[in-house]
Amino acid sequence: KTAVPSDIEIAQQASMKKITEIVEQLDIEEEEIELYGKYKAKLSHNILNRLAQKENGKVILVTAINPTPAGEGKSTVTVGLGQALNKLGKKTVIAMREPSLGPTMGLKGGAAGGGYSQVLPMEDINLHFTGDIHAITTANNALAAMIDNHIHQGNELQIDTRRITWKRVVDLNDRALRKVVIGLGGATQGVPREDGFDITVASEIMAVFCLAKDLKDLKARLARIVIGYDVNQKPVTVKDLNVEGALTLLLKDASMPNLVQTMEHSPAIIHGGPFANIAHGCNSVLGTQMAAKLGDYVVTEAGFGADLGAEKFLHIKTPSLGYHPQAVVIVATVRAIKMHGGLSKDQLKMENLEALKLGIENVKKHVETIQSFGLPYVIALNEFVTDTEAEISYVQEWCKAHEIPMALTQVWEKGGEGGLKLAEAVLSEIEKSNDEFTPLYLPENTVEQKLEIIAKTVYGAEGVDILPTAQKQLQLIVGEGWGHLPICMAKTQYSLSDDAKKLGRPQNFTITIRELKPSVGAGFIVALTGNIMTMPGLPKEPAALKMDVDEQGKATGLF
Ligand code: ADP
Repeated sequence: KTAVPSDIEIAQQASMKKITEIVEQLDIEEEEIELYGKYKAKLSHNILNRLAQKENGKVILVTAINPTPAGEGKSTVTVGLGQALNKLGKKTVIAMREPSLGPTMGLKGGAAGGGYSQVLPMEDINLHFTGDIHAITTANNALAAMIDNHIHQGNELQIDTRRITWKRVVDLNDRALRKVVIGLGGATQGVPREDGFDITVASEIMAVFCLAKDLKDLKARLARIVIGYDVNQKPVTVKDLNVEGALTLLLKDASMPNLVQTMEHSPAIIHGGPFANIAHGCNSVLGTQMAAKLGDYVVTEAGFGADLGAEKFLHIKTPSLGYHPQAVVIVATVRAIKMHGGLSKDQLKMENLEALKLGIENVKKHVETIQSFGLPYVIALNEFVTDTEAEISYVQEWCKAHEIPMALTQVWEKGGEGGLKLAEAVLSEIEKSNDEFTPLYLPENTVEQKLEIIAKTVYGAEGVDILPTAQKQLQLIVGEGWGHLPICMAKTQYSLSDDAKKLGRPQNFTITIRELKPSVGAGFIVALTGNIMTMPGLPKEPAALKMDVDEQGKATGLF
């Protein structure tokens, strides 16, 4: 077992080209890059203006079945498919999210793909990268400081200190900070009030950052952020505090997308990384747009399964992006399908066709969802060495019988070479398609209609149950004129339902809407279906315990 090298070992053995060499492959002018050392560069927004007339590359969205602890390998397939398309001579740029340090130090230990389909330098990408997330932390906390200073200086806006919704953030998993009291110590130390911390990637600023089209749009969205309510229960915004200019300034450099390379030197733009529950879980619009100007094809990813990530990409990101994906790749693994069929993690090594048969219903539901948007798709079966021949051929036969395009991929083991079949299948689906796209709801649908459409069509639920707290918030949302905004569902990623334990394809369930929270700056309404963690805690054995660095500065333990 020790013969299989870890992701970080593979990454450290890979040779990188200077980022300037990657830039040379692309239509980028010298003054349009800002070098961050030898292997990372930031790209100027000017690229979008200069190439405004150029046709956009075709966008391929990578999504998955409901995630299981067995791991699906969505990022790995995203990187591998990008490499494979480049191998086929299709100029392809990958667009991905930046990893948050919270999950990296806690559970995941890294999120830059895996095996021979990784983005490099993986240590940098997983640690502080180009500082974007730190800039977002600073902007978020600058706003928090402005709010408390405003109150301390006389509270002209009459902010109700019990109704402040803006929280402080830190990009770590730190449960002890979930609820805090600030301003203790007497009259010169501020006004005491209850506060709390979220993880940075759950900050509305991260969502705003990822949906903004340019600096002007960024500033306008920041200005619209509601930080809480005044004593008359009217919303108080960033604009009321007059700090949108300063916040935009703090984000100026961070807003330039980051260019790196994969192990096979395919260009990859890694920019922005919002949570996929409380936010929309996709890399920045600017990053995707730039990838689409620089490549003839873009491979991009959305967080969690198609019920959350893809649905939000298609209803929330697509309007900002200005165009829709030309094809969707749904990643599945034999292991994960078996878990959906009722097996536990320690039973996965053994062949079990019965479990596959039950679990594949989860795949089927996600296929139906993508079909309902009218988009072409291919299932990518991400092969693991433990998969048996009988299991793989079961999935292949099932797909054939249902006329579902699928390709077996070995991008983890073989890099781009292992994704050629997938790349060919995707290209052929794009070729055949008439490039249509139908969103499931429109802005003018009511909030209730939007919730019901998502619950029924995407989750397969009977309907929604809106609890009294959420009903009250709905009245406020409609009253303030926010009802046209899209919905950002905050639901467990593990199940199509709102109960994490219901795997496979649950039937006869309703979705309970507990709270509706407007994220007016980002431009969506968050619908909470359960307790969604906006500040995760660390597990008993955090991934950090395995991390180290030697005297030469070589990192270990980032998986
Ligand atoms: P996701 O994006 O779905 O969270 P990742 O692509 O980050 O998944 O992969 C999760 C982990 O699983 C990574 O450590 C990766 O190296 C590993 N992995 C992915 N695909 C395979 C595979 N086919 N065989 C073995 N390990 C894999």
